[in-house]
Amino acid sequence: MQLLDGKLISHQIKTEIALHVREKLLDAGLAAPHIAAVLVGEDPASQTYVAAKEKSCREVGFLSSVYRYPDNITEKQLLKVVDFLNNDPEIDGFIVQLPLPKHINEQKIIERINPVRDIDGFHPVNIGKMVLGLPCFLPATPFGIVTLLERGGVETAGKHCVVLGRSHIVGTPISILLSRKSTHGNATVTLCHSFTPDLTKYTREADILIVAMGKPDCITKEMVKPGAVVIDVGVHRVPSEETKSGYRLKGDVKFDEVSRVCSRITPVPGGVGPMTIVSLLQNALKASQKEIK
Ligand code: NAP
Repeated sequence: MQLLDGKLISHQIKTEIALHVREKLLDAGLAAPHIAAVLVGEDPASQTYVAAKEKSCREVGFLSSVYRYPDNITEKQLLKVVDFLNNDPEIDGFIVQLPLPKHINEQKIIERINPVRDIDGFHPVNIGKMVLGLPCFLPATPFGIVTLLERGGVETAGKHCVVLGRSHIVGTPISILLSRKSTHGNATVTLCHSFTPDLTKYTREADILIVAMGKPDCITKEMVKPGAVVIDVGVHRVPSEETKSGYRLKGDVKFDEVSRVCSRITPVPGGVGPMTIVSLLQNALKASQKEIK
């Protein structure tokens, strides 16, 4: 078994982006890309994600701003924040960190974002363009998975790829990207969800198994075809006495046992997570260069 090392590959991409910012932008007297994040409430996972995004921006020389609001902000007030960021000439692109408090309609907020600044790639215009294979901002996690497969040397053409989970941000878009007629597509894709009977029947047939179910340790070695490539998207915080923070991260896949039967596997942490963040940076660079119209 060989690791599909998202930490290493994301580091390589960050180095390329940092070089681009220095040589092609700053040395030429142009501004560095500037992105913003809107963070509502005190959810610890959201705070961690936004802090990680800020850190990555600093590493590549981007400017970043975080707009923080209490969780009693109204939907109307948040829509005004989105309107402001849609029009702020200082900003190239922005994200609204999800999930939002229950009293706010997430879809309404997403649809208010100007698609040319939607670096999370969640706006229906960007999703529609992705389906049609047109230039667009790809959702960061599926974009990161495709890049990981590409740079990790995993062929997808002609392979059977089984995706577990059909969320709008991971399962559904990755199934579309891998089945597209394009480089790093051309796979035969099976998309499974909670109504799929006998999940193992499908997972055992996968050359590439992508797990985005949000259920810790649910994929065991009996469910994986020997030699398969396994991408674990799940992230779960579990209590741990061995870490200073008092918790550690684990995925949807039982890493210790599945890593003994598969050929390649993403670790958690250090697999899909860093690839998601670097994909956001790639989208931000595109936004600053006005590549997406
Ligand atoms: P989600 O919205 O919770 O969706 C889970 C999907 O799994 C649903 O489609 C659900 O089916 C399906 N599912 C649940 N139980 C199942 C079962 N027993 N058999 C088959 N399918 C089942 O998930 P998400 O937002 O895509 O996130 C999934 C995981 O990835 C979470 O742990 C999340 O934290 C993590 N994540 C990580 C990153 C990263 O950057 N590393 C990014 C995003 C998400 P139904 O549709 O039928 O309900």
